[in-house]
Amino acid sequence: MKRIAFLSLILILILVLLVGCSSASDFYVFGTTLQVKTENDISKKVAKGIYEKLDGYESIISPVVANSDLERLNKAEKDVAVSVSDITLELYKISLEMYNLSSHAFNPAIYPVVKLWGFDANTFVVAGQSKQPPQQADIDALLYLADLENMFVVDYTNKTITKKDSNAMLDFGAVAKGYSLGQLTDIVGDKKSIVDLGGNIIGFNKDYTVGIRSPRNSGSSVFGKFTLHSGESISTSGDYQRYYEFDGVRYHHIIDPSTGKPADKGIISVSIIAGSINGVENTNSAAYVDAISTSVFVLGKEKGIELINTIGVKAVIIYSDLSYDVCGDLDFIRL
Ligand code: ADP
Ligand code: MG
Repeated sequence: MKRIAFLSLILILILVLLVGCSSASDFYVFGTTLQVKTENDISKKVAKGIYEKLDGYESIISPVVANSDLERLNKAEKDVAVSVSDITLELYKISLEMYNLSSHAFNPAIYPVVKLWGFDANTFVVAGQSKQPPQQADIDALLYLADLENMFVVDYTNKTITKKDSNAMLDFGAVAKGYSLGQLTDIVGDKKSIVDLGGNIIGFNKDYTVGIRSPRNSGSSVFGKFTLHSGESISTSGDYQRYYEFDGVRYHHIIDPSTGKPADKGIISVSIIAGSINGVENTNSAAYVDAISTSVFVLGKEKGIELINTIGVKAVIIYSDLSYDVCGDLDFIRL
């Protein structure tokens, strides 16, 4: 299954790197492809180090890896304190901040509903396959669980998380890839490299030209391009990769916690780009970039742009009529 997913995902990478690099290595981690490009012959060693680090993170924070923090937490009964790592605590902290900044559009406690829709990482969705969506009553019955602050009690001193309802579950799928990319600085050192983890991309020690994939693929598969500066990352959230259809309606994997249904505010792709947050260099800027792309997708144009401006990041938002907005100081060129 993993192999099929791997081969399929190679074909549907969200973002297309437009630069020619002398060396590239591909791996599979976090349920997606990892591509590392560097400029010299040490790339294989660097790429392997990056893969091993990301693999280590996945085994801690993925809800579908046995014995990970989230797998243990999600199956725990209520009122049982579950020991978790510093990484999980930090991701919870960033997530809670984004939950509040996004008026709860970003919400890792929506996972029971994500699973009901069949979009957990264990379920491979072939883009466009035909599949029946869940019943409204079943969605409604789970929505009370998406109450992040009341369902989870976090003890930062004893490093535990305790659930207040046995059915509550967490998923950092909308922030974990960005977060993990942000932890690679030490491994990469001063090497010029660019790392693409299923469309979450970070560049080191060089400016790279990066393409944003066309969400509807009519004509060119690249919608536009821009310069990703050294230390910046990009995250794209879209409705064109993980989705199925029923009766001509597209059901994708980003759920609006206020309705329990796939977000439907007119955005089909949003890319967030930044190397700092609120104008300040931040070691976790890639995590925020990831969380913001999901938040804006759920919020829609007006509230999304407000969030982008509040946090001070750059963005390309593509709407269902293929019109687009560019936010911040970005040299975006439409192709
Ligand atoms: P991708 O993972 O495809 O790069 P995102 O970063 O936008 O895209 O994350 C989407 C994933 O996050 C979903 O697959 C699901 O696991 C989870 N998710 C879905 N809706 C939300 C939401 N409103 N808030 C937080 N996480 C979400
Ligand atoms: Mg995201």
